[in-house]
Amino acid sequence: MVGIKCKSCGAEDFTKSGGQVICNYCGSTYILEDNERTGKETTISLSSDIDILLDKMRMDPDNAKRYANLILDIDPSNKEIYKYL
Ligand SMILES: [Zn+2]
Repeated sequence: MVGIKCKSCGAEDFTKSGGQVICNYCGSTYILEDNERTGKETTISLSSDIDILLDKMRMDPDNAKRYANLILDIDPSNKEIYKYL
């Protein structure tokens, strides 16, 4: 349960898998970025997600600070973010 609603079937029951969530009812997959747009916070715990977020910081400097905060939620000692802030 990650607080989002499936766009295909309306279910709110999801399984997290890597950087994605999968609808338990119809199998639709969504990247966690979709979840961010709804304004709900999701705790992301895989280190590969940090790499994805660092990538977003680089590609999207306007939102770098937001991504930095997400990274610090995962890894408070992460120093990589300061390259992009
Ligand atoms: Zn669904």
